[in-house]
Amino acid sequence: MRYSQLFGKTLKSAPAEAESANAKYLIQGGFVDQEMAGVYTWLPLGLRVLRKVEQIVREEMDALGAQEIFMPSLQPKEYWVTTNRWEGVDILFKLNSQTGKEYALGCTHEEVVTPLAQKFTKSYKELPFAVYQINTKFRDELRAKSGVLRGREFRMKDMYSFHTNQEDLTAFYNRALEAYVKAYTRCGLQVKVVQASGGIFTQNVSHEFQALTDAGEDILIACPNCEFGQNSEVATLKVGEACPKCQGTLAQMKGVEVGNIFDLGTKYTDAFDFTFTAEDGTQKRVLMGCYGIGTTRLVGSIVETHHDERGIVWPKSVAPFQVHLVSLRSKDAAVQATIDQTASDVYDGLMRAGIEVVWDDRADLSPGQKFADADLLGMPLRLVVSEKTLAENAVEWKARTSAEARRVPIAEIIEEVGTFVRE
Ligand code: ATP
Ligand code: MG
Repeated sequence: MRYSQLFGKTLKSAPAEAESANAKYLIQGGFVDQEMAGVYTWLPLGLRVLRKVEQIVREEMDALGAQEIFMPSLQPKEYWVTTNRWEGVDILFKLNSQTGKEYALGCTHEEVVTPLAQKFTKSYKELPFAVYQINTKFRDELRAKSGVLRGREFRMKDMYSFHTNQEDLTAFYNRALEAYVKAYTRCGLQVKVVQASGGIFTQNVSHEFQALTDAGEDILIACPNCEFGQNSEVATLKVGEACPKCQGTLAQMKGVEVGNIFDLGTKYTDAFDFTFTAEDGTQKRVLMGCYGIGTTRLVGSIVETHHDERGIVWPKSVAPFQVHLVSLRSKDAAVQATIDQTASDVYDGLMRAGIEVVWDDRADLSPGQKFADADLLGMPLRLVVSEKTLAENAVEWKARTSAEARRVPIAEIIEEVGTFVRE
């Protein structure tokens, strides 16, 4: 991608109302554009990140054996009446049709997936199974702040599993928990796995996955040494006590919930009277679990945990491009031609090697402006071609995570970048 051609460029300054790092850098960097509070357009750069995050999540759900589907956001009122949630769910957006019908805009999809699963499930032979989607959710949040962390329209991966017995549901639930930790780790995020309900004696087990950041709204009692944590709202342990997993000293921390899994039991299958014919011929209630990851919130959380005072520091796994190539100006027209040719050769070489590269080929900007943009955008590796580097037949190499720049001979650059990207 030539930066001069990119739709959605960096802004001179961050919007004044952006208090959180993700809002500030994602908007200033041209990753997203705010349409109104809690509602964003994902511009080309931001969409590349979102797609990578969602692909990682998709791969981990596929590895669990779950199958991807795509459910409607427009949902009939009757389903929500059936589960007793038409009234009382304050974040539910409701729509009126010109035909007089009423609809919900999906804030979650239990109301769609349960009757859907029921249609295709008659016997124990069809169980267990899990389906998931990555879709837009709508929630009438009272306060939509903190950038993409809390939207009124946002993206979520939601998975639903269906089982004949508790043992099977619990086994799948535990595998899903591991898959979640793997997905976050691949995205460069460390999470605490937080018991969200009162622990082992309650009926419905649930866990939250919390990324530690001051931008988060949740207070945790968590272990600094391992992944253990409790939400302070339901905590049975206190600050200073020993971690039940590793004996570390529990401390108070702030986090943002990037995922949530629930053992739903028969909550929804009761509502829809969803049964299956068991092996002994009797009708039994299907058991259900649900598993959510906010993918747009995940992108915001990555920015909250991976930035410095100059901008974003993307982990390689989700960076929109691995390489930010910068060509600088020269007053000498002949030198300028060599700079442009060299940058173009490096750009083509990287592309041929399958390396994602954005080339800041703009002619009218100072080195300082180009470097500031490179820091703001946060690609893992910055390469500079200038009169000075050409004098050494080299390219300047600087990782976003390091303060030091060095020179790499032009002849070796493609191979070295390949190694950097793969390691
Ligand atoms: P919260 O407590 O933060 O409001 P929630 O518990 O209501 O979230 P769930 O219904 O469990 O959220 O949704 C699953 C996941 O979707 C959450 O873990 C979170 O990552 C994401 N999510 C929820 N609400 C929003 C929102 N308004 N904007 C962006 N992501 C969200
Ligand atoms: Mg939750």
